[in-house]
Amino acid sequence: MARIALVTGGMGGLGEAICARMAALGFDVATTHSPSNTRSQEWLADMERRGHRIHAYPCDVADYDSAQACIAQITADLGPVDVLVNNAGITRDTTFKKMDKSAWDAVIRTNLDSVFNMTKPLCDGMTERGWGRIINISSVNGQKGAFGQTNYSAAKAGMHGFTKALALEVARRGVTVNTISPGYIGTKMVMAIPQEVLDTKIIPQIPMARLGKPEEVAGLVAYLASDEAAFLTGANIAINGGQHMF
Ligand code: NDP
Repeated sequence: MARIALVTGGMGGLGEAICARMAALGFDVATTHSPSNTRSQEWLADMERRGHRIHAYPCDVADYDSAQACIAQITADLGPVDVLVNNAGITRDTTFKKMDKSAWDAVIRTNLDSVFNMTKPLCDGMTERGWGRIINISSVNGQKGAFGQTNYSAAKAGMHGFTKALALEVARRGVTVNTISPGYIGTKMVMAIPQEVLDTKIIPQIPMARLGKPEEVAGLVAYLASDEAAFLTGANIAINGGQHMF
């Protein structure tokens, strides 16, 4: 029977590539989308045309009750989730001087609380069954900090601590927990940065002199989700074109 993978935020740039790769590998793939997302049917049809049958569920990952209800529905429809990819995320960039509480809360809730909300209802089942993969999509800016991103850098750095602590707790039960820290990947989140800033400030920081591709991150997710990666846990894997070596 196919293993079941749940990818949060699958209709975004990285999430879509991850869903496509996992489906191509034979996983039964579920994804979440924001309750306000109006293009989910269109997206599902497009994925189907590309040969990927994905199951989509509305869920506010920042909200504990919404996450519990969503996972209960996925489990009822498809069965227990074997691979969880915590990918949904947002930015609300501004300097700390200008940052208000709502920008702080939104980013911490969506990027970090969501990891608790989604992992909590799935982790015990994985340890009981003796196999599971939890993959958290963090960021290079959680490793090194970024100007205008105290909220985002704090949330993403929080994922690293979560990963290492949970990895210790479940290591003997066949469950691995890892973080991937992408650098700048050419998705909408990054393409929203003005081209001039990309050309003069961001690309010059990247030794490979280009943005990463979503498929390159998806390939790493696929490896971490595989049986081959059974001995790899508690790691934070950077994929950033050499921008930050740590
Ligand atoms: P996108 O903005 O393209 O996608 C983010 C996804 O998160 C969207 O699909 C959105 O869902 C979902 N989402 C946001 N808030 C919520 C919420 N409250 N509940 C449910 N879903 C939500 O971003 P990327 O694909 O670029 O980024 C994916 C992840 O990778 C993020 O965690 C990001 O921080 C991280 N990252 C990205 C980098 C990059 O260069 N692109 C670099 C480093 C890290 P919907 O579409 O349904 O609204």
